[in-house]
Amino acid sequence: MNIIGIVNQKGGVAKTTTAVNLAAFLAEQGQQVLLLDMDPQGNATSALGLRDAEHGLYEALGHPGQVKQYIQPSVQPGLSVLPATPDLAGAGVELADDPDALSRLLASIAGYDMVIIDAPPSLGPLTVNVLAAAQRLIIPLQAEYFALEGLAGLMETVERVQEALNPQLKVLGVVLTMFDGRTNLAQEVETTVRQHFGPLVFAAVIPRNVRLSEAPSYAQPINLFAPNSLGASAYQRLAKEVIQRVEKF
Ligand code: ADP
Ligand code: MG
Repeated sequence: MNIIGIVNQKGGVAKTTTAVNLAAFLAEQGQQVLLLDMDPQGNATSALGLRDAEHGLYEALGHPGQVKQYIQPSVQPGLSVLPATPDLAGAGVELADDPDALSRLLASIAGYDMVIIDAPPSLGPLTVNVLAAAQRLIIPLQAEYFALEGLAGLMETVERVQEALNPQLKVLGVVLTMFDGRTNLAQEVETTVRQHFGPLVFAAVIPRNVRLSEAPSYAQPINLFAPNSLGASAYQRLAKEVIQRVEKF
């Protein structure tokens, strides 16, 4: 079971869009996939058609032995979801002293090839739990001027978690998102990011694509909503790269 966290404490960099569509394409490639929605806003949960989940990750954290009853099928065959519910917002307080809560929960889960975790936009206790539970991280970077801003803080937190809680944690890759190839700025940002991170940056670059922003309101991942869109082919390429990298590690 490969456990991959999608992290960046900045909001609006396409963590959720990446978590949902990567998970859907991994499932389409024949993987058994579980998406854990660790963001109390629940955007990944609703993007996969589970809008009114009453119970989910919050309850499962309290009752790891009963986790199965909180996992739900999604609109995408092969992709199950452990939904976020609003009470997850309060879990930050409980998890502050318990960075291993999500790891313990994952230890009671079996039967999946890939677990994708959508992290919230902060470096708080929920994200620390994601870092402590994941084996690999994918960092989405918005292809804009401030793309690298805040990354030093993220990397410091990752190192602290590696030392104290999770020595196996590694960055699987960095993915450029919302890329607008018509602008010089986006191309300059791509050059800078590739210089900075080298081969860690995925070859797949996610273009700015209106279909990707529309899909959640139809409660479908992009492979179902607009399979012929540029956004779909980009996330499909990313999913193939992720499978290759996971096998190499
Ligand atoms: P995060 O989870 O990091 O806060 P989201 O995935 O919610 O970011 O994305 C922020 C907003 O940008 C959402 O409205 C989403 O639909 C939109 N978005 C994300 N990726 C793209 C893209 N490649 N093209 C167009 N809109 C996008
Ligand atoms: Mg999000």
